[in-house]
Amino acid sequence: TLLFFLPLSPLKALKVPEFGKYTKELKKLIEESDHILLICHINPDGDAIGAMLAMRRWIISRGKEPAMISPNALQKFLLWMNDVDRVVDFHHNPAVGAELINNADLIIMVDFNTTSRMGKAEQLIINSTAKKVMIDHHPDPSAFADLVISDVSRSSTSELVYFLVNGMEGCEFNDSDFITAVYVGIITDTGNFEHGYYTGDTMRTVGHLLDRGVDKERVYNHIFSNFSPDRIRLKGFALHSRMVVHPELHTAYIWLTKEDLDRFHHVKGDTEGFANVLLTMNGIVLSVLFIERTGFVKMSLRSKGSFNANELSRKCFNGGGHRNAAGGEMKGTIHEVVNHFENTLPSFRKELEDAAEEMMK
Ligand code: 5GP
Ligand code: MN
Repeated sequence: TLLFFLPLSPLKALKVPEFGKYTKELKKLIEESDHILLICHINPDGDAIGAMLAMRRWIISRGKEPAMISPNALQKFLLWMNDVDRVVDFHHNPAVGAELINNADLIIMVDFNTTSRMGKAEQLIINSTAKKVMIDHHPDPSAFADLVISDVSRSSTSELVYFLVNGMEGCEFNDSDFITAVYVGIITDTGNFEHGYYTGDTMRTVGHLLDRGVDKERVYNHIFSNFSPDRIRLKGFALHSRMVVHPELHTAYIWLTKEDLDRFHHVKGDTEGFANVLLTMNGIVLSVLFIERTGFVKMSLRSKGSFNANELSRKCFNGGGHRNAAGGEMKGTIHEVVNHFENTLPSFRKELEDAAEEMMK
């Protein structure tokens, strides 16, 4: 169609000079390197994998073939993507992963802002003498890379990658795997445009991706409509039997024990999105999902408006993330951790009330 050939005029409104500088620097590093390695964060979501695969396609178009590492296994709902089978799972193949890290002369880290998000690969990466690039959209990046491309105004790292590659006039990288990977990242981090930091730029990007033929139904079905009956039942059980609501603190949470998870034959990814559901309750601005693991508890926090889930997670759970979506983990049983949360929560009363008031305006 005609649209396909239009210049990327709406994208010109972006901070083009800045992106130009970053892209130029990145291209230079890629040109100078022979062994390029991409790495994403542990428990990679669609944005981490999307950004990594998109970067790989672009780097291939520049004549280099980068390797890819994930700190641990990929969730099933991402396995349909082209080239995910090339991602080395560091947890299961530490020797292969270590060799890739030690041979690399350029390491590009995507979708995280602290080294601890690389799991067991962390120390090897820190010790590596390779040049390092970080491409990310989380707040407060720690500057452990030679080149930090951080833009918190982006819905996703994948959107940021799209702008690095196509944000300048005359740039037209339309590889179909690239387009699909970027779209996966954007719909993952926005919950198919339901939450997160999507902007006019995000929607203009999505417009370009659709113009270029991204199969939105196919991608949506893989990411969001792929649940097992057990997963649907687990969600019903969690909402019915494991939900606690504190209306006066505008907070709701779900706690699931290991036995609960076993009962519904839980597989990784099954509890994705549970915390978001709680935020659809009238007056609720903070939701938490507590999942019991062996010896520790993993939590997912979601919030609305001004309430800073990132800050709460940093203070309370040694975690982090974005203002409205954060995570963390803590040693102890689920009851200990939930108690700790119950005891800490009242100290955030003012912030919770303010956020709730703003929401109801
Ligand atoms: P989720 O709840 O979907 O696992 O994560 C939500 C957000 O919080 C993501 O942006 C993720 O990067 C971040 N996050 C999740 N778990 C942790 C954690 O243990 N530590 C830190 N720093 N961030 C996390
Ligand atoms: Mn992301």
